[in-house]
Amino acid sequence: MKVPFLDLRSQYLELREEIDAAVLGVLDSGRYILGKKCEEFELAFKGYLVGEDEGYVVGVNSGTDALKLSLLAAGVGPGDEVITVANTAIPTATAICSVGAIPVFCDVDRRTWLMDAVQIEAHVTSRTKAIIPVHLYGGVCDMNTILEVAGKFGLQVIEDTAQATGSLYKGKRCGTLGDFGAFSFYPSKNLGACGDGGAVFVRSAASKELLSRLRNYGQGSRYRADIVSGENSRLDELQAAILSIKLRHLDRWNRKRMEVASCYLSKLHDRGFSVQVQMDTEGAEPAKHLFVVRVDPRQRERIMKDMEIEGVQSLIHYPMPLYQQPAFSHYKKQQNAVAEELCASVISLPFHQYLVIDKINFIIASFVKSIF
Ligand SMILES: *Cc1c(COP(=O)(O)O)cnc(C)c1O
Repeated sequence: MKVPFLDLRSQYLELREEIDAAVLGVLDSGRYILGKKCEEFELAFKGYLVGEDEGYVVGVNSGTDALKLSLLAAGVGPGDEVITVANTAIPTATAICSVGAIPVFCDVDRRTWLMDAVQIEAHVTSRTKAIIPVHLYGGVCDMNTILEVAGKFGLQVIEDTAQATGSLYKGKRCGTLGDFGAFSFYPSKNLGACGDGGAVFVRSAASKELLSRLRNYGQGSRYRADIVSGENSRLDELQAAILSIKLRHLDRWNRKRMEVASCYLSKLHDRGFSVQVQMDTEGAEPAKHLFVVRVDPRQRERIMKDMEIEGVQSLIHYPMPLYQQPAFSHYKKQQNAVAEELCASVISLPFHQYLVIDKINFIIASFVKSIF
């Protein structure tokens, strides 16, 4: 049996008629950028996140740009420091560096593998402007404590929600708790486009205005540039139309993902196997993005090879703390002991909403066999 890590085609096949019609509709409309489809999606996604409550969604080109434009809108610039974590996707730090700011890495909690909120304060300096907590793997950061520290020092909070579209914290969606919520619609994410896409959630009309300009050359109105740091970063009509369709299925897909995750756990348990997985923050209802387990670092490469021989594809999210990456190593050398342990020991098993029971059994059997 072959079990690839992802199965993105099944999403398309499940909704094929609807998606085909929507795509052809956009092609036929003659409007491809900043038209009705983008507006419709922004409104629908805002409704998904906060319902009737106030707030706005601004569609952008990617999750990386959602972070970057949020930083620009928050007034973060050259020489400013932004506190984030080291066990995350590269773009979290790329976005910080792209506005000239300096990433400062706060270690993560041993149980949740997420930003250890009580350690943030020790990293705050007079140059600190913002915190970017990362809701890694769909897990939910300890937002109350993070917001408390941010409030104390007047810092902006930009949630990296790229991996947690749909996750809840004390009944509220991740990405709506801080000042900015950055989302990614990269195809493999819980809500994925058929290309690149992203969005920012903000609560104030002023931030929404600013972001709308930043994504469109800095233009306030046509041919009138108001801000110099403008970009070209729009969510195009084709992606928006596809996302609007998929959004209607997101909660069901996320429930399915959680079923797959608990199935994995009970199968491991049935085999008398206790494996370390990410624990939930108090008050969190995660919409898992990845199913990650820890193994003996010295065995990891071999375990993955053995599984691959059996046909099971696994990946590592992420193999190296960001400050060890060549691109970021010139920033203050820091040691995040827990992040380093995690980077050395994590394996992501195949994970998506179309995993059926015989595949799950096969994956677990192959994993358990490789461990011993
Ligand atoms: C995917 C991802 C991003 C970047 O999103 P893109 O849409 O690929 O630019 C940022 N942060 C995290 C944690 C991610 O997983």
